[in-house]
Amino acid sequence: MAGRVDLDGNPIKPITICMIGAGGFIGSHLCEKLMSETPHKVLAVDVSNDKIKHLLEPATLAWADRIEFHRINIKNDSRLEGLIKMADLTINLAAICTPADYNTRPLDTIYSNFIDALPVVKYCSENGKRLIHFSTCEIYGKTIGAFLPKDSPLRQDPAYYVLKEDTSPCIFGPIEKQRWSYACAKQLIERLIYAEGAENGLEFTIVRPFNWIGPRMDFIPGIDGPSEGVPRVLACFSNNLLRREPLKLVDGGESQRTFIYIKDAIDAVLLMIENPARANGHIFNVGNPNNEVTVRQLAEMMTKVYSKVSGESSLETPTIDVSSKEFYGEGYDDSDKRIPDMTIINKQLAWNPKTSLWDLLESTLTYQHRTYAEAIKQAMSKSTAN
Ligand code: NAD
Ligand code: UDP
Repeated sequence: MAGRVDLDGNPIKPITICMIGAGGFIGSHLCEKLMSETPHKVLAVDVSNDKIKHLLEPATLAWADRIEFHRINIKNDSRLEGLIKMADLTINLAAICTPADYNTRPLDTIYSNFIDALPVVKYCSENGKRLIHFSTCEIYGKTIGAFLPKDSPLRQDPAYYVLKEDTSPCIFGPIEKQRWSYACAKQLIERLIYAEGAENGLEFTIVRPFNWIGPRMDFIPGIDGPSEGVPRVLACFSNNLLRREPLKLVDGGESQRTFIYIKDAIDAVLLMIENPARANGHIFNVGNPNNEVTVRQLAEMMTKVYSKVSGESSLETPTIDVSSKEFYGEGYDDSDKRIPDMTIINKQLAWNPKTSLWDLLESTLTYQHRTYAEAIKQAMSKSTAN
């Protein structure tokens, strides 16, 4: 750790970070990175610490004096302002961010992504503290190309689909499509943070993650989450593979996504943390434009990779189609395509993703198999016995 320098060659000084939502998927990987590779201190705030337990216990760990967990619900806890005041930087990851909730729990989604984030922004602004806020690629909504006729050659023109922080519009569906409650709440908090920067000098960075995936993402229904719960696609498909059920393709699995390995993305966040002069005032896309697939192609690739890592044969019918209404309920809608433009992050932080989709699925599904296969087998044999 000695002699660490920033992108401009200046020595990096140890700082204290108040990380809200530190017990989630991204937070757990960020804490791991900060503990193992930097001298920084983390005040980890969350309602749960299951995913960072390995970093908190035992007290003999090398970083034991650099991480402390605060079990706080930021909706209603007066200790939050004190923690933000104690830190040099606040990183806010806390959110409801699973699509199955956006149309079924729109009020919770809007409160979580907008109202609950307001005090965090206010405390940072009033106390002159830097903020890194996690937004989403979903802020872009649908691409302009989605509104062109299916056979229009313009659909092949990147100008109609590549998503750029400073020029692309945010295109959401009608209000009755409650899917957009999340994107809309995230958009308004981005605008508020931007305005705090412009009017009150708040030092901020906004991150727009494009489908970060890897170990510890979400939960496996019936094992470490509710049986009826619907996590994001990586965990849904992992669950299907572990249980030897067909993978469910919503509305034909035609939507396109670019997936990035969590460890590549965390490298980008660390650069933001340690290069404030280059990151402040910017909104960054963080994704891997080279890893684009349709959801159907993702299902096919995950089926192949899982077969390789588990040694099990694939099912004869590996996928089935399901309507979005059946899978998510009324009010679901979808982003058609998400390719991040990388110009700003390349220029400011000289960062590029490295890991191919096949490689990131191989390490992630190896983890899923090692972590869950036995528990699933036991749960399934118990339910057959009953
Ligand atoms: P996650 O659900 O795993 O983590 C969120 C964490 O916030 C959870 O541990 C949760 O307990 C905590 N939290 C929520 N409300 C809280 C509250 N009121 N008080 C205290 N803690 C609370 O999700 P993630 O994938 O790690 O996402 C983190 C952030 O990144 C979110 O803001 C999300 O919108 C954004 N994001 C992530 C992705 C992705 O690809 N993973 C994509 C787009 C946006
Ligand atoms: N999806 C699917 N089957 C599933 C879960 C998700 O076809 O079991 C689709 C979903 O409709 C969307 C894509 O996979 O088109 C990605 O969904 P995810 O929940 O990961 O979040 P999003 O990228 O939409 O924010």
